[in-house]
This record gives sequence, C-alpha cells and structure tokens, in this order.
Amino acid sequence: MRPSPFLVDTHCHLADAAFDADRDAVLARAGAAGVGHVVAIGESLAGSERAVALARGRRGLSATAGVHPHEAGAWSAGAAARVRELLAAPETVAVGETGLDYHYMHSPRETQRAAFEAQLALGTELGKPVIVHARDADEDMAAMLGAVQSDPPIVVLHSFSSGEAVWNAGMVIHAYFSFSGMITFKNWKMTDRLTACPPDRLLLETDAPYLAPVPHRGRRNEPGFVRDVAERAAGLRGESLETLAQRTTDNARRCFGARIDGTL
Ligand SMILES: [Zn+2]
Repeated sequence: MRPSPFLVDTHCHLADAAFDADRDAVLARAGAAGVGHVVAIGESLAGSERAVALARGRRGLSATAGVHPHEAGAWSAGAAARVRELLAAPETVAVGETGLDYHYMHSPRETQRAAFEAQLALGTELGKPVIVHARDADEDMAAMLGAVQSDPPIVVLHSFSSGEAVWNAGMVIHAYFSFSGMITFKNWKMTDRLTACPPDRLLLETDAPYLAPVPHRGRRNEPGFVRDVAERAAGLRGESLETLAQRTTDNARRCFGARIDGTL
C-alpha cells in the first residue's frame, strides 16, 4: 500500500545547482508534502550524469538522460553512445528532456530536429518514455510526433502548454500530458486541455527550479510544490486530491515503470 497521498513529481531538475546548498532539506520537505517519488531530469550530458548519480541507490529518486533542445548542438555520436549507456542504468527511467524550442532558438532548427529525432528513436528502440519539451514549434512538433510509432506509447508532453496541433498529435499517439505549476497562474488559459486530458494520460510535475506555482510564484520552485499543482488540478477537474493523486501516480508507474513505487 502506498501512503496517501502519494504524489510523483515527474519532472524536476533536481541536479541543478539551484539545489546544491539544501537538496536533502528540499527532498525532506517534498516527502512531508506527500511526494513519494521524484524524477530528476537530465537536460545535458553533464546534467544527465549528475541526475543519474543522484538517483543511484535512492529508492525515491529516478533519473532521465538526454539533451534539451537548447543544448542540441552538443548531440553527437559520442553523446548518443553515452546517453545509451546511462539509459542502461536501473535508475534511469526515460530519455530526455528533448524536443523543439523555437522560442529561444539556442540551437538551429535542423540541429534541434536531428537531436530530437535521434532521441525519439532511442526511446522507441529501448521501449523507454521520451520527455518532450515543446515551445513555439507546433507545426514541426506535431509532424515529428505523428511519425512516432510505438506500443506502448512513449511520449510525455512535459509542462503541456502547446496549441491544437500538438494536442491532437499527442492524442493520436496516446501521449502522456504532464501539467506543471503553469496551471496555477492567473494567465493560464488552457484549463480545457487539463479537463479534457484522458484520466489515464495525466501526469503532474514541477519543472523545478523553474515555474514555481502560486502561492510560491517568483521563488525557486521545488518538488514539494507538486502538491500545489495537484490541488489545483484536482479543483479544476472536479476530483478529490486523493483520486487525482492515485490516478497520476498510477499513470507515472505505467509510464516510467516499477521504480516509481520506491519512496523518498
Ligand atoms: Zn525541464
């Protein structure tokens, strides 16, 4: 039996330097807030190494390995080989985060598409979920998601806030839709997506240290604040916190595997 509520922060940059001074205290607060498990995201090769090292030997933590679109220029045969090695570790549950970001354009579009395509292929080959970041790239994102063929579905659309094309493409491939603290913001306009999300596709995340939810907005975000995201999501969907927590944790378990049952 899991303690109740048992929430999973499916997207936290826990290896970020923002947590170097007080990471253990942050995790203790998360546990006290009902967070059972945290997925530490790798956003670069070095960040993936750090995330995997953090999760090693800790039941309540898992890691991902991949290269963010901002870092897509660093994708190479060597990087791919190292990501593949990191994905073989038992604590590494997903590829990413990868994706397309045409808002900041830290890497050229072709470079981003090539790195994203390679990481989607890696996830498909290994049967591991792929954490996808999408910003201002709806047309290309929808087309690339449309080409994904995998059963069971592997795509996680993280901090979902994309338009119609990406939503539709995600629905077709049975993607998971992960909602962040953005759903607590005054200017959040996509509650219809949150309420329309199929119950077995819904995930929750913080994207800490970024995107702190209300009432913590403007401060450093941390995994315990996924509780605020969950309470808001439950309210908007007209469900109890317990029901939503159970549902989203079941989904995280199905998506990322048995390691999610390990507790902080
Ligand atoms: Zn992220």
